[in-house]
Amino acid sequence: MPIYEYACEECGTEFELLVRADTKLECPTCQSTQLEKQLSVFATADASAQAAPTLPMGPCGSCGHPDGPGACGIH
Ligand SMILES: [Zn+2]
Repeated sequence: MPIYEYACEECGTEFELLVRADTKLECPTCQSTQLEKQLSVFATADASAQAAPTLPMGPCGSCGHPDGPGACGIH
């Protein structure tokens, strides 16, 4: 039985809903039916991983700056 995440376009409430054939889709807070279906948790995790890939450890040890520790001025 699929569980979907929805965000209410009226009040912004985000909630999960176990969707059956007779499930009425409405916001639990304001009863609005203007709902936006959210991406699944797994899809969201994949998207963020691709947007910010983990950098390999370099000489700096923290940010991978090629000139060595402290060269980046931050680490
Ligand atoms: Zn609402």
